[in-house]
Amino acid sequence: MFESIERVPGDAILGLIEAFKSDKNPNKVDLGVGVYRDEQGTTPIMRAVKEAEKLLIDNEKTKAYIGSHGDPEYGADILKTVFGAESDVLAANRASATQSPGGTGALRLAAGFIKTNLPGKSIWLSDPTWPNHLGVFGAAGLNIEKYPYVDADNRLDFDGMLAALKQIPQGDVVLLHACCHNPTGFDLSQDQWQQVLAVLQERELLPLVDFAYQGFGDGMDEDAYGVRLLANTLDEMLITQSCSKNFGIYRERTGCFIAVAKDADDMADVRSQLAITARENYSNPPGHGSAIVATIFNSDELTTMWREELDEMRGRINGLRNDFVKGLAPHGLDQRFAHVAEQRGMFSFTGLTPAHVEKLRDEHSIYMVKSGRANVAGLNSANLEYVCNAIADVVK
Ligand code: PMP
Repeated sequence: MFESIERVPGDAILGLIEAFKSDKNPNKVDLGVGVYRDEQGTTPIMRAVKEAEKLLIDNEKTKAYIGSHGDPEYGADILKTVFGAESDVLAANRASATQSPGGTGALRLAAGFIKTNLPGKSIWLSDPTWPNHLGVFGAAGLNIEKYPYVDADNRLDFDGMLAALKQIPQGDVVLLHACCHNPTGFDLSQDQWQQVLAVLQERELLPLVDFAYQGFGDGMDEDAYGVRLLANTLDEMLITQSCSKNFGIYRERTGCFIAVAKDADDMADVRSQLAITARENYSNPPGHGSAIVATIFNSDELTTMWREELDEMRGRINGLRNDFVKGLAPHGLDQRFAHVAEQRGMFSFTGLTPAHVEKLRDEHSIYMVKSGRANVAGLNSANLEYVCNAIADVVK
């Protein structure tokens, strides 16, 4: 039966990882992969996470199922982190948290929820967006549409975005990146969020905000500006959250799907549906990552330790963005790449073309995604000058 099954090409990023591994050049640089890297090039286990795991070894009492909505303590922690502890949304009991296997699992719950409960509604994605948005929503059978996000000069196309949002049919779902837009690094300003909000209200659109990088842009509260603005103003919205990046617990698959409803009663209706969606997909979420996060939030000392390390990570990324632009100044390229210092998060749409990317790989062993997306966290003090010189060479 399997003879007729076609082999499909693997994920482009996985191919890049393989090519990087087999490259013998000692100066090779990996700017492709989508995880945080420290100065030594490793993806560290955060100090507070290690401490929480030690506590869990001694104190965890059971490995029984945690239920379709996950650990209630974790859910409550995530709601406070996303909306702020003093949020009116929480006081009104309008938000429901369903723990999920990572941000991807949360997106899958969102897709299932839309498919079942909002039949016929399309989902609108930024062009470009994280490629797996297309995979997850497509696999769930949703109709996918796109709105523009980047213009031909590799800058945020806010006018194009807003004009497209104004044409979307009433009731459709619009996916927005809360911060650290993947793959571009271009985020909306506070003023732009307000303009988007006005269109969402006018057209009666349902926002689904993907919040995978809280704390990686400008700060935990700063990065939540758009999410909180929408939740405080609109009756309804959806949020997919991830602890993969800000706790560095990628493989523990720890995320959360949040539905905000008009009132506590509607919220309970929505919540009942989500338990079914979760059960049909994977029954119960994994428990180790959520236990780590809850243990950290349960201790002021561990929370401080975690926040400090997250601040260091964010500071490192934003510092590298500035150093990169400065490193290109001797080549007269600082203006051309000035946007890299303005972008936020790990990723940057550099503006390098597929031909530049190919030359960087073939002639300098520098690896990045064909679109010119670079993971800024792959830079460090030892390779920065090498990368800047190589870019100057390929764009000349
Ligand atoms: N959304 C975006 C925009 C992402 O970049 C990612 C991870 N790369 C995710 C969601 C999913 O994250 P997770 O690893 O938690 O599934």
